[in-house]
Amino acid sequence: MSFETLGLAPALLRALAEQGYTAPTPIQAAAIPPALEGRDLLAGAQTGTGKTAAFSLPLLDRLYAGERKPAAPKAPRALVLTPTRELAAQVHESVRAYGKHLGVRATTIFGGVGMQPQVEALRRGVEILVATPGRLLDHIQQRSVNLSHIEVLILDEADRMLDMGFLPSIKRILGHLPKQNRVTWLFSATFAPEIKALAAEFMREPVEIQIAKPNSVAATVTHRVHPVDASKKRDLLLHLLHNDARQTLVFGRTKHGADKLARVLEQAGLRAAAIHGNKSQNQRTRALKDFKSGKIAVLVATDIAARGLDIDQLPMVINFDLPMVAEDYVHRIGRTGRAGAEGLAISLVSHEEDGLLRDIRRLLKQDIAVEAVAGFEPSHPLRLDDSARSRPQQNQRPPQRHARRPHVGNNGGGNAHPGARNRKPQRGGGQRNSRPA
Ligand code: AMP
Repeated sequence: MSFETLGLAPALLRALAEQGYTAPTPIQAAAIPPALEGRDLLAGAQTGTGKTAAFSLPLLDRLYAGERKPAAPKAPRALVLTPTRELAAQVHESVRAYGKHLGVRATTIFGGVGMQPQVEALRRGVEILVATPGRLLDHIQQRSVNLSHIEVLILDEADRMLDMGFLPSIKRILGHLPKQNRVTWLFSATFAPEIKALAAEFMREPVEIQIAKPNSVAATVTHRVHPVDASKKRDLLLHLLHNDARQTLVFGRTKHGADKLARVLEQAGLRAAAIHGNKSQNQRTRALKDFKSGKIAVLVATDIAARGLDIDQLPMVINFDLPMVAEDYVHRIGRTGRAGAEGLAISLVSHEEDGLLRDIRRLLKQDIAVEAVAGFEPSHPLRLDDSARSRPQQNQRPPQRHARRPHVGNNGGGNAHPGARNRKPQRGGGQRNSRPA
């Protein structure tokens, strides 16, 4: 399978070759042909599968390579909704990269930065608008944006937008879009009933696509657990980072914890920064840029802030805390070992967390090597026996809202991603306050 056979315009093929992409990923191969035909899409795919290109390429093809409208209206023709500012910025970057030979006019609209530059960009005229729902509604209210010419609507990470409480905003935004002559492409890692309902209400006979992932990511990732007392975790982290100079993404559970950890690392002479919902947009953008360029060696992140971060071939992820929901382990680790590269996923696990570790092992359906680091041996061993019924962590787990969410389609393989992210919207120390839009 090649990009040529998918029917993309030559200008896009050229940009893809320049990006070094040689063949479409499974989600691209499945989504691009029906998207080019103008069908609605309901696509199940996680970050790391190439989903951004799966919608950006047909979007650019439709807008720029087909028959252009006579006098291009100043109002945007395509809208991409994303849950977070970072994801919006990354989608924008991808659209620009893939559309570099097409004269693309695209802009992002998200909260945490001034309204005025966005108003001016809209006034100058854009064709592709990448936005988070909250800030877009602000623009709708003050009439600085006109959505009546939207031909393509893309909902990226729809499950996360719903988890973050954006459903009412999305419905309001949908009310401002034309109902006729519009295609809608919805991408989501999981398909809760609310997402199916949204699709049924706003889409026309969508083509359903499901791509197996991301447990397969684990194939190139080595998982390792270091049992350690909670009070010794910081010292162990420093020990590990001092012994391994590779770029590392460290996950903490709370914003406060991530900040504190980044400070401790900096004081120990490591180039570190934290990224989470309480940081200003500028701080987040700078931290990500510095991390990508290698100026910062360690980025400490919370789950929501890290979701969708497009960091290529990250060699190492360290879970300073285990995530409260096992599926988040898969999301965290999805950042390493991409595209066949080797990755290392280390988790520092105290005995209070052994119930979470058992959940993760069950989800991954594989054993994880447990190795104490000399000098950091825990005072209590981890209990990894699955039959153990008394689970000290149980009270900390979010209530299980849905037993198991169904998947769409069936070409992904049985144990793809067990899917159900039984999460609660306000997980992770009130991340919702971060007001991503
Ligand atoms: P995404 O799932 O959209 O976050 O993409 C994950 C990563 O895969 C990004 O860094 C993309 O640049 C990269 N990527 C997307 N499509 C391809 C492809 N066909 N070949 C190689 N890399 C790709």
